[in-house]
Amino acid sequence: MADCLFCSIAAGETAATRVLESPRTIAFSDISPQAPTHVLVIPKDHYPDLAALAGAEAGLLDEVAMLAHRIAAAAGIDETGYRVVFNTGPQAGQTVQHVHAHVLGGRGITWTHG
Ligand code: 5GP
Ligand code: ZN
Repeated sequence: MADCLFCSIAAGETAATRVLESPRTIAFSDISPQAPTHVLVIPKDHYPDLAALAGAEAGLLDEVAMLAHRIAAAAGIDETGYRVVFNTGPQAGQTVQHVHAHVLGGRGITWTHG
């Protein structure tokens, strides 16, 4: 989609530190990390939010979740614990309208978010 930052990253037109990928998803480091591990997982195709992703082609949401787990395993935090977050809509602070899962870990993560 034109004028979408994460479509541009998926296409390799905007630089990002890529971590892992699967056939339909990619993962890259967040530019403003909130934890020692802070990686974003996106579908390569454009879906604006979690609801759209959940209604997308079969297995795509599973693939995002699987890549999130692979990131945690690669970072060595799959057993100590990590958090996967989909900020959805303005009150949750979604700033990029291309669905993305935040994978956060490497420190104790409290429940309440500012
Ligand atoms: P949201 O607030 O929509 O849940 O998350 C958007 C995330 O994208 C933020 O954590 C922000 O730091 C990250 N971000 C914004 N612009 C860029 C960028 O150009 N490159 C990367 N790697 N991350 C970005
Ligand atoms: Zn997009």
